[in-house]
Amino acid sequence: EQSTEDLRSNLDSLEEKSAQLHIANKEAMESNRLKSQFLANISHEVRTPLNAILGYTKILQKNLVDDQQKIYIDTIEQSTNSLLAIIGDILDFSKIEAGKLSLDHGDVNLRELVDDVYQILSASLLTSEKQIDLVPEFSEDVPQWVTGDAVRIRQILNNLIGNAIKFTHKGSIRTKVTLVKQTSDQLLFSFKVIDTGIGIPENKLNRLFKPFSQVDNSTTRQFGGTGLGLVITKKLVEQMDGNIDVYSDQKSGSTFYFTLNLQPSEKPAQIPEKLHK
Ligand code: ADP
Repeated sequence: EQSTEDLRSNLDSLEEKSAQLHIANKEAMESNRLKSQFLANISHEVRTPLNAILGYTKILQKNLVDDQQKIYIDTIEQSTNSLLAIIGDILDFSKIEAGKLSLDHGDVNLRELVDDVYQILSASLLTSEKQIDLVPEFSEDVPQWVTGDAVRIRQILNNLIGNAIKFTHKGSIRTKVTLVKQTSDQLLFSFKVIDTGIGIPENKLNRLFKPFSQVDNSTTRQFGGTGLGLVITKKLVEQMDGNIDVYSDQKSGSTFYFTLNLQPSEKPAQIPEKLHK
């Protein structure tokens, strides 16, 4: 049997360990906060000179003397834009880590936004050899106007449809938007981005939404990217009270599906063209 003395000393050492753990935990949290802050600062500092490069590139594009110069200057522009996109991802990721990503609430023309994302991304197909049909589809009851964060909804769609294009060579990329549930102050939407691309191996699916995960992480990998796109996408979806998941097979392609909880908008639907007259 243990004496009271022994018990007391065990209790003391337990308390001491718990205090040590508490300190270690606080230190870990602080170091995590410093890391996020550091990433945010660096990203911010890098953006300024990149924007200067981009600005002067645009000026130079107007005074080109020959075709070779055009190729060089266009490459500088594309590379600068890629760097800005990477920096943007790192900045968003550090904001999310630090719990500092806040959403805007404004009028969003949802149908126009989806169409616009398709328009812009389809421009990138003009200069590629890919043969892909891009098909946005809305169920009839999807309202034109909603209240939400247009920039972030666009970012979610850009990431998913951009990935779909990146990993599809032939076939189609469909986006289906459906209104699932409607109350006086909530609109629940379901989105599906369906591609006919290379698919994702089953054993990689569970790491897909974790930071820096790329299915092909060899140094010789074919596709660029930071491995942050889907992490940011998932966080944005969750901030809009939604969920995201994927099913995929290497024969038919991938389907990313997600829900978003948005709010109704006061703005009336646009009057169809023919009623204008
Ligand atoms: P990245 O910016 O590096 O592409 P993401 O987080 O957007 O990072 O995607 C992570 C990885 O998931 C990609 O590198 C790719 O391997 C895989 N992936 C994402 N979307 C698709 C898709 N539609 N088809 C096939 N693989 C995909």
